[in-house]
Amino acid sequence: MSTEPLNPIQQMVLDALAKRPDFVPSTPDLADDIEAHVSEALEPIAAHYAAERSLVIAKHSLNSVHGCEAQHVANRGKFAWSLPLVRGTVLHKAIELLINVRVPRTPSEIVDDALDRIVESEGKSASDYVASLSPAEQAELRATIVDLVTKYEDSFPPLKPEWRPVVESNAKVHLCGGSIFLTARTDLTIGAPGSKVIIDLKTGRMSAAYREDLRFYSLVEILKSRQAPRLTATFTVDSQRIDTEAVSVDTLRAAVRRLVEGAQLLDELDRQHRPPTKKTSYACRWCPILASCDEGRAFLEADSDNPDGY
Ligand code: SF4
Repeated sequence: MSTEPLNPIQQMVLDALAKRPDFVPSTPDLADDIEAHVSEALEPIAAHYAAERSLVIAKHSLNSVHGCEAQHVANRGKFAWSLPLVRGTVLHKAIELLINVRVPRTPSEIVDDALDRIVESEGKSASDYVASLSPAEQAELRATIVDLVTKYEDSFPPLKPEWRPVVESNAKVHLCGGSIFLTARTDLTIGAPGSKVIIDLKTGRMSAAYREDLRFYSLVEILKSRQAPRLTATFTVDSQRIDTEAVSVDTLRAAVRRLVEGAQLLDELDRQHRPPTKKTSYACRWCPILASCDEGRAFLEADSDNPDGY
């Protein structure tokens, strides 16, 4: 690991992640209270499912159903690789290799290794998608990720092994006799149980919505390990900035509320209890049913003076 002094941005990130002197770990009672509360609230929904046919809830499905329900229904069960998705997948793999590699490698070498690993192991569709890109597009993809990995190295402090860094860690929690199944995959965690920091690595600009994702991860973590994480953080690789939120009873309660509301919506739409509602936003741009959605097209036309959506 590098023994170079930290640069100002690395030091800023490290300071943001540091444990405060007044930090007090959560008690097992808190996990019991949260589990009892969330299980009771989910019980009426769980009655429509069973252990062998559970309602699966992940970060993506929660975000999707809390957005436009019509888009959620249109996208349900469908997946297609796109440049942003492949870019994010390769970047995460590159950072995983960067954190774990024993011999120093340049960003270009790391990205080439990551691309090779993706093509070999992330499923044939990713490999097919990359292969379907023209040589120029593949070169652009590689150049973009080399840029992002370089920015990551230049701004995120090198992780010491004793901080117990773990990348792409899965967490699964069964509730209500297995009828409700929560699943999460964290980009990066550091620290021991009871003082864990959960970090999401993002490309693009910071969004307030990212805290919702991390609150869901915190909820899954406390239900799984019986100890709340200490802190959550979103690190945006392009802008080299970090947003942190201390995990508290309030943030966990907010996560429970959003989970229960989301489960209710998922259940209603799964059972076709009612037609999906529409909610216009900039997500209309990549909606698969935009062509037949008057509301979405009207929203985008009205916003055509502001093509970047900012
Ligand atoms: S175009 Fe917009 S409002 Fe219409 S269904 Fe899609 S996301 Fe919803």
